[in-house]
Amino acid sequence: MATERQAPCPECAKVGELLSDYLDGELPESGRWVVELHLGSCTACTQFLAELAATVTALHRLARPDAVTRALRGTASARS
Ligand SMILES: [Zn+2]
Repeated sequence: MATERQAPCPECAKVGELLSDYLDGELPESGRWVVELHLGSCTACTQFLAELAATVTALHRLARPDAVTRALRGTASARS
């Protein structure tokens, strides 16, 4: 019985590995170019990037209050 699951194309697999670095801005320009070129022609990866971006944004939102609290605490103790 054949599976319904689509095998991702090699380009999608390669770009998929680059997307988190791409979102973090840690990808060199050559890598960003590869990602952006592929995103222009691949809706699956564009959608995956959007989902990844939403997850990263949610994580940052969760992490931020703690970082702010720590920063405020540090400032308060340094002032005294
Ligand atoms: Zn793709």
